[in-house]
Amino acid sequence: MKVLVLNCGSSSIKYRLFELPAGNVLTSGEVERIGEAESLLRYSLPGNSSPVENRHPIADHREGLAGIMAALLESGTVQELTELAAIGHRVVHGGECFRQPIRVDDEVIARIRDMIPLAPLHNPANLMGIEVAIQVAPQATQVAVFDTAYHQSLPPHAWHYALPYSLYTEHRVRRYGFHGTSHHYVAKQAATFLGKPLDQLNLISLHLGNGASATAIRNGQSIDTSMGMTPLEGLVMGTRCGDIDPAIHSYLNRVREMSIEEVDRMLNRDSGLKGLCGHNDMREVHELADAGDESALLALDVYGYRLKKYIGAYFAALGRVDAIVFTGGIGENDSGIRTLACSGLEALGIHIDDAPPRPAANNILCLHREDSPVRVLVIPTNEELEIAVQTMDCISNRVA
Ligand code: ADP
Repeated sequence: MKVLVLNCGSSSIKYRLFELPAGNVLTSGEVERIGEAESLLRYSLPGNSSPVENRHPIADHREGLAGIMAALLESGTVQELTELAAIGHRVVHGGECFRQPIRVDDEVIARIRDMIPLAPLHNPANLMGIEVAIQVAPQATQVAVFDTAYHQSLPPHAWHYALPYSLYTEHRVRRYGFHGTSHHYVAKQAATFLGKPLDQLNLISLHLGNGASATAIRNGQSIDTSMGMTPLEGLVMGTRCGDIDPAIHSYLNRVREMSIEEVDRMLNRDSGLKGLCGHNDMREVHELADAGDESALLALDVYGYRLKKYIGAYFAALGRVDAIVFTGGIGENDSGIRTLACSGLEALGIHIDDAPPRPAANNILCLHREDSPVRVLVIPTNEELEIAVQTMDCISNRVA
């Protein structure tokens, strides 16, 4: 069956069309700069090296998605839109409502709308994508797949903050966690690779991209995760600070007269690697560090140390760990960061091989020594494929 995966942002739509169950990508592309004078529809077809680019004004998401559908037809990827069995939508925040993917109906739309205060930057765009997809491709089943859903298995002691209880009951203040689709995907890949059923597998999964999060997985289920009520908590990220003392807000308000909004913006956009050394892209941080730049060297140390602390904490939470999994742009490519995170943890049974990583099946790399009790793996993530598979499972009434 053909499943289209959509990831809608405020001025962009990314898409990928899969043939399932094989998992082949038939085409992928994106619409950028929606609402601007020169919008762009770009897509590629397997076997064609250069992408097709089409520049013209695209007024809104409805026009953008109509353009994507026209591109699917023109390129011959589908002969008729009725071939699209389903459209899987990435939705950032599912709150406590959604533990798994769900077919979209009016009630689901109302509940996703109700979640907007929790994810004001993401859910409105995700919702707009769903609403225009219903208009543009009414024959396809629409399925919502939530970034938060995988973490709904957290026990209360992991998701409660030590705040007045009424903040949870009245305002839904709690840990939700994000990147769930990626953590779930690499956990399933790890289970296949290690030849152990997912429901018997304990993992520490580290998704290190522009955003970054760590997840403790017991018997295949998320039992703790570093991002919190918002994606700001936890690890050091490209521009986000991760864990800090919450009293810094009021201190900055007093000594610099910064408003809550200004502090918020600083913590989300001007902190993390960027705050420490001026660059949020890890490759640039390495270039500076290689040239001896002190602030870049410090940024790497802070980043690696935070990761190591989370590995230790999640080891304590899990008791037994089968494997540590690195994924995301940094996790998949940056051997220096992986070494910083895992070095000195031999007492926990984590032994990294001095030899180069050993390639294994499915583009997986093994970093551990053969005799290491804890395996250390690099597993490329594929959130779009996971959304497509969960969408297929949902419309086939299989549990994702
Ligand atoms: P996103 O979270 O936006 O999906 P990615 O998963 O693509 O982001 O990760 C982006 C990060 O990965 C950037 O910091 C980038 O510098 C880093 N990265 C990509 N390739 C490499 C590499 N070869 N070495 C080190 N870092 C890399």
